Amino acid sequence: MSAAPVEPLDALQVYATATAACTRCRLAEGRTQVVFGAGNPRADLMFVGEAPGFHEDKQGVPFVGQAGKLLDGLLAGVGLERDDVFVANVLKCRPPGNRDPQADEIESCEPHLFRQIELIEPKVIATLGNFATKLLSGRPLGITRVHGQEQELTIAGRSVVLYPLYHPAAALYTPAMLKVLEADFARLPAILGGGQALAAIPAEEPASDNLSQALSAPAEQLGLF
Ligand code: URA
Repeated sequence: MSAAPVEPLDALQVYATATAACTRCRLAEGRTQVVFGAGNPRADLMFVGEAPGFHEDKQGVPFVGQAGKLLDGLLAGVGLERDDVFVANVLKCRPPGNRDPQADEIESCEPHLFRQIELIEPKVIATLGNFATKLLSGRPLGITRVHGQEQELTIAGRSVVLYPLYHPAAALYTPAMLKVLEADFARLPAILGGGQALAAIPAEEPASDNLSQALSAPAEQLGLF
């Protein structure tokens, strides 16, 4: 008798269990636990943030702090809940003091994210902030330049729409950025529905004075959670 095929749901759970013991990089030494990701294992929409912070490390769930509350509010604004989407991070373990992820850590952790994408098969991946956007777009363009501009890409062997957004932690303290994040978020249903033409990345920076000012402020993303 042949074994029953492993469903994506089970496969993701099996992968999460295996990842819980990961020692691929130095972050394993200081973590409380691996924060694998959470949500609907068959979600059409996946969010990818940066790395677990203090609360995420303690609770084992991504985006449970202040930035997570903002994310919940933004989701509610477009009629979605956490259980409708899957939320993960570039890094699965907390960097000490919430410092920026380092290149070798990102490289070590990357296979986990790509495997998650393979198993979940999202239609749209919304990247939150610079690190996720640069990693998944494969381009060095920063979030200021590309936020709100969806792009069809092949990721983990599948065609997906990548939709870069500002990181909620950065938007928490910068009202102009929050407005932009809300406006970008409001387009998610249309992008998920596939009813919107895909935008090309413009050659120029956004012109808004408010936005430029907000983005030159020292409200760096990682110091905020
Ligand atoms: N910021 C992130 O990027 N990820 C989290 O899980 C929490 C805050």
